[in-house]
Amino acid sequence: MKTAFITGSSRGIGRAVAIRLAKDGYRIIVHGAGTTEKALETKKIIEENGGIAEIMIADLSDLEQTKKLAASVGNVDVLILNASIQYKTPWQEISERACYEQLNCNFVSSLLLIQSVVPYMKSAGGGRIITIGSVQERKPHPDMVVYSASKAAQTNMMQSLSLQLAPFGITVNNVAPGVIYTDRNKEALSDPAYAKKVTDSIPMGYYGEPEDCAGLVSLLCSEGGRYITGQSIFVDGGKGIQ
Ligand code: NAP
Repeated sequence: MKTAFITGSSRGIGRAVAIRLAKDGYRIIVHGAGTTEKALETKKIIEENGGIAEIMIADLSDLEQTKKLAASVGNVDVLILNASIQYKTPWQEISERACYEQLNCNFVSSLLLIQSVVPYMKSAGGGRIITIGSVQERKPHPDMVVYSASKAAQTNMMQSLSLQLAPFGITVNNVAPGVIYTDRNKEALSDPAYAKKVTDSIPMGYYGEPEDCAGLVSLLCSEGGRYITGQSIFVDGGKGIQ
């Protein structure tokens, strides 16, 4: 049985991806940053659907924790780099600490985890690596300059690695969500005026659901996705091209 490791799969998009890949037949490593409560919920849903899951916890803004996770994760066939930190602050007021927390979680940890899983993928004759980016790579929010830059950096790294890993049968792609209704934006979207402004900016006229991202991830991880690499694909109802 192949193994898929999805960072930030205790909730939101990562959880939907974990559930979908479990249905596709992968053993799942569920990951969260802090308490195990939400991760246990994801594990339970997977097991109720007949899947197999285990849990690993690590705060990816702390690179010592990332390194321990990388050393203990074992043989992984599919790596989904989904966890991220997103702070909203006017650019003049961003602290050095907040800057490094976002960069460590959203970019540096992605590199460290890719470094740890690629040797096994090479020995297995292939693998799948997917970074989760953001529509902000194309349309940065003025008060999220570090977040959007970290996602753009991650995608640039994805493109370089896709070329270097293609000869080993390892595909590397980026899935860039638009506005997907999760814990991350539920509070902001509870303001009707803000919600209208947001939906007005989406050509399809509504927010996406985590499952909308999971469908694309499933395709990229399948045999049907074997010839797709180096791509950044937006799941955003058309927002990114407006
Ligand atoms: P979410 O609901 O806020 O969930 C975040 C996940 O990341 C949780 O599993 C959380 O673990 C984990 N996480 C948070 N901080 C972490 C840290 N320091 N170390 C390790 N894990 C951490 O997020 P989401 O909305 O599903 O977003 C998933 C991905 O899609 C992110 O990369 C985000 O940037 C991207 N994205 C989302 C949207 C959107 O509209 N939702 C739009 C564009 C891009 P805990 O449960 O333990 O806190």
